[in-house]
Amino acid sequence: MTADPVTSNAAAPGAEYAETASAAYRAALQVIESVEPRIAAATRKELADQRDSLKLIASENYASPAVLLTMGSWFSDKYAEGTIGHRFYAGCQNVDTVERLAAEHARELFGAPYAYVQPHSGIDANLVAFWAILATRVEVPELAALGAKHVNDLSEADWEKLRNKLGNQRLLGMSLDAGGHLTHGFRPNISGKMFHQRSYGTDPNTGFLDYGAVADAAREFKPLIIVAGYSAYPRRVDFAKMREIADEVGATLMVDMAHFAGLVAGKVFTGDEDPVPHAHVTTTTTHKSLRGPRGGMVLAQPEYSDAVDKGCPMVLGGPLSHVMAAKAVALAEARQPAFQAYAQRVADNAQALADGFLKRDAQLVTGGTDNHIVLLDVTSFGLTGRQAESALLDAGIVTNRNSVPADPNGAWYTSGIRLGTPALTTRGFEADDFDRVADLIVDVLSNTQPSATPGGVSKAKYTLADGTAERVHAASAELLEANPLYPGLTL
Ligand code: PLP
Repeated sequence: MTADPVTSNAAAPGAEYAETASAAYRAALQVIESVEPRIAAATRKELADQRDSLKLIASENYASPAVLLTMGSWFSDKYAEGTIGHRFYAGCQNVDTVERLAAEHARELFGAPYAYVQPHSGIDANLVAFWAILATRVEVPELAALGAKHVNDLSEADWEKLRNKLGNQRLLGMSLDAGGHLTHGFRPNISGKMFHQRSYGTDPNTGFLDYGAVADAAREFKPLIIVAGYSAYPRRVDFAKMREIADEVGATLMVDMAHFAGLVAGKVFTGDEDPVPHAHVTTTTTHKSLRGPRGGMVLAQPEYSDAVDKGCPMVLGGPLSHVMAAKAVALAEARQPAFQAYAQRVADNAQALADGFLKRDAQLVTGGTDNHIVLLDVTSFGLTGRQAESALLDAGIVTNRNSVPADPNGAWYTSGIRLGTPALTTRGFEADDFDRVADLIVDVLSNTQPSATPGGVSKAKYTLADGTAERVHAASAELLEANPLYPGLTL
């Protein structure tokens, strides 16, 4: 019997399915090899490296062979600007089928009235959302007031007035060092150049989101948009409360669930913790905890859906139809009961990882986690985030350094390490394995010393005690072997 590629675990497809996938990859690599052997070699090496590393990057995962194989098709060759049934190119009937299916799966999975599956990435999804909100809240009323139907009907003077208005709106989002994302109105990103931005942070004593402070900031700043969502906050958010705050000040609530979409899809976050019914517009990536292909998506309430639907060509280039097809496959996977079990394990494993640190006296931002992220404060080891990240990598543990609230080491060196459980949970890691991972991380950090410099202590250089890297490598190899990535897949 052939295993069902939709219901089988991405990390543990049934034996026959693994065999079929192996044959497909072998054939594909042979074809690639005949044109550019170095790319075939790099592709083989990437799988080997991913199999051999303890990946704790909170934003990464391992997509199923079904999702990955879907991307290598002739849909890549088709231009399809526009939207379903309304394209600027002929011959898009099969792209229509793909986009319709992906959007249908997304609506069903998240209980959303409308889904837009074209964004090429999370940043693009946020740009589509921002411009859809600006179009709905600023452009449409202004056109109506001027008695015009289309921006092309405006005089130069009226167009200039509208452009100024569009470029003078306010956005309130979570601060970067509290765990917000660069695309939530920060100056290095286009969002910070588009909006006047103000940030809300977390309670300095607890590290938890302070809803009273968010409400105060909203009342004072009167933003057009409040953005909720994060990339490095280890706690759940009450989106009903965020919506109440937005309603009180007449703001549009936009939630960026890029990081935790898998926990929403898997029904770990429900009720007030599910952003979709509370937000006017919800954006996400599809490749993090949701375990799909690299890409983005926008879900919207009906009053914003017309504007979101114009994402291409308003903000986006032609849709990546092969990726939309892979999104449809990943979303179909996420609608299976097995995905709910996976999402629950992601959250349970994060808890086990946090408990593993706490019982070894390590410091965690907010004292723990209730999502998929653990934020380890490494200052108690006498290290910066940069030193901790590099020392862990020397021992084969892949993480990323991250700011902690009011970070004394700034955004480059940082004082934290962000860890996430989605990827290793896909490999089959359980709570005991994550306790062991905490043990290995504490072992590395306790055996790392910042280097002395003429001016004091370095924020980048360090020394790792002899034997540490070898000891930890050997221990993590055992964990990785017990939980193989794509078992049965041979190239
Ligand atoms: N939004 C959040 C909250 C994120 O964490 C990220 C990526 O890390 C993004 C948006 C951007 O996603 P992408 O890299 O796909 O553009």
